Amino acid sequence: MRAALYYGPGDVRLEDIPEPDPTPGTVKVRSLHNGLCGTDLHQYFVGPMSPAPLPTVVGHEFSGEVVDVGRDVTSVAVGELVAIEPLWPCGTCAPCVDGDPNLCWEVLCHGLGGPGGGLSEFTVVREHMAHRLPEGLGPDHGALVEPMSVAYRAVLRAEPRPGDAAVVFGGGPIGIGAYLALGALGVDDVTVVEPAAERRAAVGALGAARVLDPAATDVVAEVRDRTKGAGARVVVDAAGVPASFTAALGVASTKARVVTVAAYMEPVTYNPTDVMMRELEIVSSFSYNGEFDAVIEHMAAGRYPTDGWVERVPFDEQLTAYDRLHRGEAIKLMIDL
Ligand SMILES: [Zn+2]
Ligand SMILES: [Zn+2]
Repeated sequence: MRAALYYGPGDVRLEDIPEPDPTPGTVKVRSLHNGLCGTDLHQYFVGPMSPAPLPTVVGHEFSGEVVDVGRDVTSVAVGELVAIEPLWPCGTCAPCVDGDPNLCWEVLCHGLGGPGGGLSEFTVVREHMAHRLPEGLGPDHGALVEPMSVAYRAVLRAEPRPGDAAVVFGGGPIGIGAYLALGALGVDDVTVVEPAAERRAAVGALGAARVLDPAATDVVAEVRDRTKGAGARVVVDAAGVPASFTAALGVASTKARVVTVAAYMEPVTYNPTDVMMRELEIVSSFSYNGEFDAVIEHMAAGRYPTDGWVERVPFDEQLTAYDRLHRGEAIKLMIDL
């Protein structure tokens, strides 16, 4: 079967590898759509995300059709469309025992050093990793469930309430996902901050009433103005740069929750006194832990439009996707298998 294999920085090859068979408790999936994200870019341009021997199969954001099931599998059946939750937690370390498999010390991820990946014709995952998609949702939405769950969890970590004012920094896939999650959870007063014009346009086309360019606008003053000085109680930093973090603290109301859901490439400085005087909570959100089915439900209810920010790329042209994403020429590229 055809697969995209990662051999090292700048070296992904489309090759033939043996087709896997399901074992007890696992399901075999024909991959249909697989999205690429910043983590894939990091792996491609910088280096492997795990110590697994190379090559490894690429692809952790994917959907597929169940084509075979191992013994004892009861929750999904052959022919069903599924979204894959790609984590393989160890199940025995302290975080796993505490119910935090996303923080597992030994976690493997399908497509990032785990046993297989979404960018192969077929792959085998544990039964609980396959989430059935309801009628009306296609493989394109299915492949978005993983990144949208990252963003959904980040928003949940802010404990949003209807009526809250919210600010999201970053208009990439996770920022867009946070904007859509806030809407799904009944928070309508959302400001998105994004420096790239194409991304601002895409977020605006999704219905965001206020999309600010931080290069042209004093974001903190603008948000304070709009909220009669109070600031936003929900703040999500999906941009991950010192300027966004600083502005995130600046727009936060008293007792706000500021959620970081980005890989910061450099340290940030702030004065804890500013945080203390408003009793701010800076919390972080990593990966997902139980958000898949809620996201799928919101998708089925039509709360995750894909127009204007998700673009399909044929399997054979996937190697061009890395440079296009790196140059900022696309927001979310979905490899169509
Ligand atoms: Zn990803
Ligand atoms: Zn573990």
